[in-house]
Amino acid sequence: MQDSLSFDITHKLDGTLARAGVIHTPHGDIKTPAYIVGGTKATVKALTPEQVSGLGGQAVLANTYHLMLRPGADIVQQAGGLGKFMNWQGPTFTDSGGFQVFSLGVAYKKGIDAVAHTEKGDADNANASKDQLVKVTEHGAFFRSHLDGSKLEMTPESSMELQHKIAADIHMAFDECPAPLAPRQYLEESLGRTHAWAERCLERHQTLNSAHAETGQPQQALFGVVQGARKEDLRRASAQFLGERDFDGYGLGGIFEPGEIPSVVRWVNETLPENKPRHLLGMGSQPADLFLGVEYGIDTFDCIAPTRQARNGAIYTYGGRINIKNQQYKTDFTPIDTDCACYTCVNYTRAYINHLFRADEILGATLASIHNEYFVVHTVDRIRDSLIDNTFFDYKKSFLLRYYKDNLPAGVTL
Ligand SMILES: [Zn+2]
Repeated sequence: MQDSLSFDITHKLDGTLARAGVIHTPHGDIKTPAYIVGGTKATVKALTPEQVSGLGGQAVLANTYHLMLRPGADIVQQAGGLGKFMNWQGPTFTDSGGFQVFSLGVAYKKGIDAVAHTEKGDADNANASKDQLVKVTEHGAFFRSHLDGSKLEMTPESSMELQHKIAADIHMAFDECPAPLAPRQYLEESLGRTHAWAERCLERHQTLNSAHAETGQPQQALFGVVQGARKEDLRRASAQFLGERDFDGYGLGGIFEPGEIPSVVRWVNETLPENKPRHLLGMGSQPADLFLGVEYGIDTFDCIAPTRQARNGAIYTYGGRINIKNQQYKTDFTPIDTDCACYTCVNYTRAYINHLFRADEILGATLASIHNEYFVVHTVDRIRDSLIDNTFFDYKKSFLLRYYKDNLPAGVTL
């Protein structure tokens, strides 16, 4: 059977967990560290796939929960899989849907108060009231669609079947994402469930891959998802448990603050096997997260924030974030950032983009999204270069001092 995925580490940064490498997939290579572009509903909002590859995007991550609701995994399968459906030629990821299932009703907000409804401390939520949106049992999760309120179930097996129909190159195991401040007992029970689910995911995944081998379809890869909230012993136990199993790589899930990357991510990556890729799920909206993530051993990131912020006019520049809708940019005929080489900055002015936003013209969202996505993709590419030529700490210091000035975020040391 052909390998679904392989990973070569080409450089390591002494004294840190950072490394540069290449992930090989059936749809091409990903040079790591890499920022994976968010394509939640099989589209990178406001951008064509040509624009995504033009700005340097190497791979796209879509969301199983959203695609199972609309258009349905069967339709993506009939189209020939995610890449064909959305006309993206490169590597693809799907997340399992776990985070969305457990964050229903909190508008996908990724913060410490999100997923509050699982913060009950009861063993299995079996007595969940009717208006609770999600109920967890050992079998799986029962929840209601955020679109029409219909009752749905997701189990490790069904998540794998959906992901194999969607047919991205890299899948995530179905996990429970507990509230980080849930009582210790609940976190332990939840982690036990996540581990049992991971084994069930792996078993079903291997069966489905065997079927692909018979029909000549490409093999798909599965990442185990490490949980354990903000508890060192739980995180390390989770990394140990999953690390001993035959996953192709690992996702770091759960909810923690970016300032906790030097602790939470370090615990996990010190424990995981070194030779497999590690993906930080849904984090990387701040440049500091990217530097800290890489320093503590992350290979790939995804986050929808750059395009979401762009659509609101919030634009990254090397001198910090600006809101392009502000009055001061109305007559500013310079690019968003004179040091940026993206399509938007090469061809358009702040004044023009300010005008597009004020006139509610959709090109504004496209031009802003191209710039923001380029900014994060390119920053991670530059971090990669700095690992290779051994200038990581110089680059980190100069970048972060320029971006944050004297307001360095928590967890950052220079
Ligand atoms: Zn730009």
